[in-house]
Amino acid sequence: MAEKPKAYQKCINPDCGAEFSCAEAFFKCPKCGDLLDIQYNWDQIDTPKKLADFSKRWATKNNRLDFSGVWRFRELLDFCGDNFKVSIGEGQTLLQQNDMLGEFIGMKAGKLYLQYEGLNPSGSFKDNGMTAAFSHAKMVGAKSCACASTGNTSAAVALYAHHSGMKCTVFIGSGRIAFGKLSQAMDYGANTIQIMGDFDDCMKQVQAVCTELKLYLLNSLNPFRLEGQKTIMYRIIEGLGWNVPDWIVVPGGNLGNSSAFGKAFAELKHLGLINKIPRLAIINATGADTLTELVNNRNLKWNGGRIDNKIINDFYTELTAKNFSPHTCASAIEISRPVNLKKCLRAIELCNGVVRAVSDQAITDAKALIGKYGLGCEPASAASVAGLELLLAEKIIKPDETVACVLTGHCLKDPNVTVNYHKEKGGKFSNPPVESPNDLEQIIKLMS
Ligand SMILES: *Cc1c(COP(=O)(O)O)cnc(C)c1O
Ligand SMILES: [Zn+2]
Repeated sequence: MAEKPKAYQKCINPDCGAEFSCAEAFFKCPKCGDLLDIQYNWDQIDTPKKLADFSKRWATKNNRLDFSGVWRFRELLDFCGDNFKVSIGEGQTLLQQNDMLGEFIGMKAGKLYLQYEGLNPSGSFKDNGMTAAFSHAKMVGAKSCACASTGNTSAAVALYAHHSGMKCTVFIGSGRIAFGKLSQAMDYGANTIQIMGDFDDCMKQVQAVCTELKLYLLNSLNPFRLEGQKTIMYRIIEGLGWNVPDWIVVPGGNLGNSSAFGKAFAELKHLGLINKIPRLAIINATGADTLTELVNNRNLKWNGGRIDNKIINDFYTELTAKNFSPHTCASAIEISRPVNLKKCLRAIELCNGVVRAVSDQAITDAKALIGKYGLGCEPASAASVAGLELLLAEKIIKPDETVACVLTGHCLKDPNVTVNYHKEKGGKFSNPPVESPNDLEQIIKLMS
C-alpha cells in the first residue's frame, strides 16, 4: 500500500473538495477556482505530546531551523523536506506584557500583551509566511516569483527571493505605499512595477501575470504562506507559558492572518495540544471595511463552507458601481476585496469571532499610545489596540481577560504618518518638537 503523504492541498469548497499534491503550485483550486488549504495526515507526523515539548528547541538554536521562530514548530507545518527550507532567522519576535498601556485603556494589570511582529527581518509579520512559501517554491523548483503588495509583502518577497536564488517582481499601487516599505523593495533588488490603481487592481493583474508567465505567486492566496503565519499564534502561546489567551486581536486586510490563526487553533485543538480556543477580534479601518459590512450588516457566514456568494457578489457589484476605492492612513489594510475572505469566515465561526471597524483618528491615537508605552508599530498594526478599546467600551472584552494584540509591522515602516500626527497636532497624544533659538538661556527656559 502506498504511504499517505504527510501533507496535501485541498479545496475549501465542500462541494468540490478536490485534492492535490504539495509538489504542485496553484493559487486557486484548478477545478472550481476557490481557495486551497494545506491539510495534514497527522498520523504520518511525529507531533509533540504537549506544546511545551517545543521548548527543547531553545537548547539547540545553533541549528538554523531550531533558531527560526517558524521552523522550530515544523511538525505543525510539515509540508516539505528540511533541505528545501529557507530561513533567515524570522520569527524572533516578542510578546510584551504591557501594563502601562493596558491600564491606560482600562484593563487590569497583567492582562494586555503586544505581539511585536515588527521584529522580523523585513520588519513585518509577512516574513513568517514568506519563509514557508519560499520553501515550497524551492520544493517545486520555481525560478521566478511575483506578488501584489500594499508594501510589506513586497519588502518580504524581495528579501526572501534573493535568499532563495529567485527573481522577483512586485506590483504596487501608485502613490499608496509607505516610504519605508518602498525603500526596502528597491534596496533588496526587486523589480518594482507601479500600477496606476489601488491594491485590488494590482492583485487582479498579478494573478493574470503569474498565470501567463508561470510565475510563483506569493500573495496570501498562496496557502503555504498561511502555514507559516500560524506560528505567530504558537509564539503567543509560548510567550504565555504555553497557555492560550482569552482574545487575539488582529488588524484585517487581506485576512491572511486571521485565516491562518483560525486554522492554527483548529489544528491544535484537533491534536489535543490546547483545550480552549481563544476568541478572535478582527479590526478593519472604516475606510476599508468590507469584512465588517459583510459580517455585521449582511450576515455573511461560513455555513460549513457553503457560503452565500450572492451576498459577496452583490456587495462587490455595489463597490464597482460606486467606483469605490478604499482609503485609510493604515495603508497595509487598505483593501476592499480581501482574498482570504472565505477562510476568514471559517476562523470567525471557529473562534466565536467579532469584527469591528475603527477610524483613522482612533488608529493614529492608538499608534501614539503604543509608541509611548510600548515598542511602537505602523498604522495598520495599531488598529488592533484601537479595536480593543472599542470592544472594551462595548463590554465585549472584559478588563480581566487576557488579550494579545498582534502588532503586525515595525514603527519605522511609515514615518510620514507618525511625523504628521505629531507635528501637525493630529490627535490627543501629539508630541511635536519645540522650536528654540540657538541660545542656552532660552533653551533652558523652554525646558522648565
Ligand atoms: C499585510 C499587513 C496587514 C494585513 O494582514 P492580512 O493578513 O492581509 O489581513 C496588517 N498589517 C500589516 C503591517 C501588514 O503588513
Ligand atoms: Zn475546488
